[in-house]
Parts: sequence; C-alpha cells; structure tokens
Amino acid sequence: MSSEKYLVRGATLPGGTRSDLLLAGGLITETGTRLSAAGATTIDADGLIALPGLVDLHTHLREPGYEQSETVLTGSRAAAIGGFTGVFAMANTSPVQDTAGVVEQVLALGEQAGYVTVQPIGAVTVGLAGKNLAELGAMAESRARVRVFSDDGACVWDPLLMRRALEYVKAFDGVVAQHAQEPRLTENAQMNEGPLSAELGLAGWPAVAEEAIIARDVLLAEHVGSRLHICHVSTAGSVDVIRWAKARGIPVTAEVTPHHLLLTEDLVAGYDARYKVNPPLRRREDTEALRAGLADGTIDIVATDHAPHPTEAKDCEWDAASNGMVGLESALSVVHASVVADGRMNWADVARVLSAMPARIGRLSGQGQPLESGSAAELTLYDPAASRVFGTDDLAGKGTNSPYLSMTLPGRVNATFHRGYATVLDGVLRPTDEVRAYGATAGAGAARG
Ligand SMILES: [Zn+2]
Repeated sequence: MSSEKYLVRGATLPGGTRSDLLLAGGLITETGTRLSAAGATTIDADGLIALPGLVDLHTHLREPGYEQSETVLTGSRAAAIGGFTGVFAMANTSPVQDTAGVVEQVLALGEQAGYVTVQPIGAVTVGLAGKNLAELGAMAESRARVRVFSDDGACVWDPLLMRRALEYVKAFDGVVAQHAQEPRLTENAQMNEGPLSAELGLAGWPAVAEEAIIARDVLLAEHVGSRLHICHVSTAGSVDVIRWAKARGIPVTAEVTPHHLLLTEDLVAGYDARYKVNPPLRRREDTEALRAGLADGTIDIVATDHAPHPTEAKDCEWDAASNGMVGLESALSVVHASVVADGRMNWADVARVLSAMPARIGRLSGQGQPLESGSAAELTLYDPAASRVFGTDDLAGKGTNSPYLSMTLPGRVNATFHRGYATVLDGVLRPTDEVRAYGATAGAGAARG
C-alpha cells in the first residue's frame, strides 16, 4: 500500500496566515494558495487551525502489565483522537521499563499500533524502587534510543542517586524527568493541604513537598551541569522556584497538565474520586500562577499525565481510589479553555507548548516540526469554533476516568495526520487494521531519523 496524498485547503496556520498544505510521501511537500494535486484527497479546512502534530511528554500507556487499564494500541487511539502524533510512554509498567528489552518491546508495540510515534521513557532506578540506577546507557543505546528517564509515580528522593542520574545522562544528551514529591511530607496524602483538607478530614499534600524537591534538584542540575525536567508542576511556589532557576541559567524545563491549568481543589468537596490525582488539584491562586508561568515561558510545555484506570479503581471510597485522570482526548480543548480563550496565549504558543518544545526536550526527531515544505507530515486540524458537552463518546482509550465528563469544552479535533496518513478524519478514528497497514508501509525508520 502506498502512502496517502492529501490536499488540505485553506487551513489557518498557527501564525494566523491561511494556506493550503499538500501531504505526500510522508512529508509536507508544498504550502501556498491555490495548490492542486492530481489524485489527492481534498480536505476543506476553512475555519480550521492547522497545528504541528501534538506531542505528549507524559503518557501512561500501562502496557506491559496493566492491560486492563490501557494498552499501547488503545492509548495510541486516545492520542490520535486528541490530535497527538507522538507520545512518551512512562516507565511504571510491569515489568518496569528499566532495561533495553522492555523499552524495545514498548517501541515495537507502538510501531505495530501505527497511530502515533510511541517513544518509551526509561526508569531512573531499577524497578522504580529508588535504590539502584537502572541500565540508563543500555536503554539509550537500544533501538528505542531512550533520552528521557523518569521514575514518575515515585520521586527520586535520594539526593545522591539523583545526582548520579543527572551525571550519567549527560553522556547521551538525556534528561531526568522528576516527579517532585517529598515522600515523608506526603505520607498517605489525599488532597491539597489547606483549610479545605482540614474541613473534609482528608490528609493534606502540602505545596512545600513539591517545591522543596524542585529547589533541591535545580541546584543539583546546576552543580553537575545537566538537563533536568520537572513533571506536572502544580503550585505557585514551584513556578517561582523554576523562574528563579531559569534566570540563573540552570538548564531546567517544566511541564503543567491541562487539569492543573483548569481545575481546582473545590471539586474534591463531593468526594468524587474522578478528581483524585497526584499531585492534587490546588487553589485558584495556583492555577492562575501556572497559567501565567506557561504564558511567560517559565513552564515550557503542557503534558497530559494521561493515567487510565479501570472503573473499580475510581468507583470507590476516596481514600481507596487510585490517583490519576485520562487526558489525551481532552488536552487541546482544555488548553483552549484555560489559556487561549482569554487571549493569554495564541495558536503559535499552543504549537510551541504542545508540539515543538516537548519534541525538543525529549530529543524526538520527526515530530514538532513547523508546518512548512520538507517537514514530516505530522499535523492536526482543529475546529476552534466547535463546542461540545464532553462525554464518554469522546474517549477512545480504555479509561473513562475523565474529570471533564458532562462539562462543556470548546473546540474539536477534526483530523490528525501521522507519517502522511490520516489517523482521524472528520473527527472519526480510522479503523485499526487500516492504520496498521499504513504504519507498516510508511516504515518506522523514516520518521525516527
Ligand atoms: Zn507523576
């Protein structure tokens, strides 16, 4: 099967100009007005924003080991329907992604699925146990070419181990992505610490437990001269610490999740475990600081922390429920609602924080490129004028633990193109067998570079 050929007509580029885009042979081959191409499928993109395909630096695909929650295939489908063309798969699988063998397995599952580029993340420590460094070099040199290392779900708490990890990844231009949570300060923590946690009788997760680890780690990164990335920043104080570190020239990058941009701790008052997440939803002052930090570049990217769970893990008492929310399918709409709708950020900013920068931080080639002739045909068409009551029909992965169900969200992904073939058209996912066939012929090598 040869690759598909598409003529996208009259799309609005992130910078605001309108253009046609010709996709052929896995590349954007031409841009401009009044393009024509024999044999191409024409897509009327009048009123649609064209964005470079979205890239998520923080996705939990759950396979191997937790296939009842998600698989690489179902998570890839959730990514495509959300406008993503690349995802970084977190290491807390079973077995843990702490060896070359396991990261290569996840890479291969992603290639077979064919919906998005699945780039495995490697664990920092063996079994995420926080005791011994994992085989970072072997994972970096494997076919999966791992560049991002994280024990996400657990904090690399031991400062000497963190220092060693930062030193080690320098050899291959890697980055350590820290889940910043001081464990002693957050034992059995259930929600943000403050007046509301006291009122609800739930153990608090204090902001200082995040800020103290970030402060320590930016100083370690400065000391050893290595790249550090902070996962899911959730407090105003963390934004201040990162702003200070960047002003000092420390090579730190940071992410914020869509849910921490939009939602606040008040939602916990109903004890609905859909709102239970780690780090927890914070105060209005925190969401405001996170939005400002994203807009001024202190926070580099938006990452979903897509965390699917089976129904029984959420449909229970608050204390017993698992942490986490699904986020791939809703991310672009939530970013639209939280920072674009009020004019704080424009679509060029969105292309930066949801595509170009996550690809750059993760050193992922073939993703996050500008929409111009010669770039890989990785793009998303988004209808900003659409509006919908978000429902389970909008979810494509296994998890239904979305905090946005029954909320009205702006916008809708109209189409997603990965390696030159459409994974989503008119808001509908292409069937798995079709995508697999195109994925197999498009080849893994071309886009990975
Ligand atoms: Zn985490």
